[in-house]
Amino acid sequence: MKTILTEEAIHAGVRRLATQIIDDFRGERLAVMGVMTGSVVFLADLIRQLDFPLRVGVVWASSYRGSTTVRGELSVNTAMMPNVSGEHVLLIDDIFDTGHTLAHLLQEIQKCGAASVRSAVLLRKQGRREVTIVPDYVAFEIPDEFVVGYGLDYQDYYRHLPYLAALEPDDLAKWQP
Ligand code: 5GP
Ligand code: MG
Repeated sequence: MKTILTEEAIHAGVRRLATQIIDDFRGERLAVMGVMTGSVVFLADLIRQLDFPLRVGVVWASSYRGSTTVRGELSVNTAMMPNVSGEHVLLIDDIFDTGHTLAHLLQEIQKCGAASVRSAVLLRKQGRREVTIVPDYVAFEIPDEFVVGYGLDYQDYYRHLPYLAALEPDDLAKWQP
C-alpha cells in the first residue's frame, strides 16, 4: 500500500473545509447527512469542527458488491434519513468518483422538500466524472487509484486507518482478510 494522504494532511484539509462551511452557513439551520458507510470518519471529524447548531443524520448508499473494486449497481436507502423538509441540507460523502451516487442522492433529498441541498466530499478523483453536478466542497483532488482508509474500504476492511492509502494491483492479488 502506498500512502496518499497522511493523518496530519487529512486533518488540515478537514479544518480548511469546515472553515468554508462555517463562513457559508452561519445563521442558517443546517442538516448534515452523511452517506454511509464511507463517510463515517470524515463526518465525525467534520461535524466536530462546526460550532453552530446543526442536525446530523445518515443515508445509505452502496455501489460495490463482492470482492471487486469496480462499481456495480447503485443501491440507495433514505428510509433512515430524518425529515429534512424545509431544511438546508449538506450531504457528506467520502469520495466523488463518477458522481452517480451524489447525483442520485441530491435528487432524492430534493424530493423530500429540502430548502436547499449542497454537498461536501473529502476526495475527488480526477478525470472520472460522468454526471453534470459537481460537489460544492472538496478537500482533496486525488489521482485515479483505488484508495482505502479514513472511512474508505475494501470489503469493509481498512476503514479504520487514520490515513489514506492506494491499494495497488499487487496488494489486491495477494489480498486476504
Ligand atoms: P461514484 O458514484 O461517485 O462513482 O462513487 C462514489 C462511491 O464509490 C463512494 O461513496 C465510495 O463509496 C465508492 N468509491 C469510489 N472510489 C473509491 C475508491 O477509490 N475507494 C473506495 N474504497 N471506494 C470508492
Ligand atoms: Mg460510499
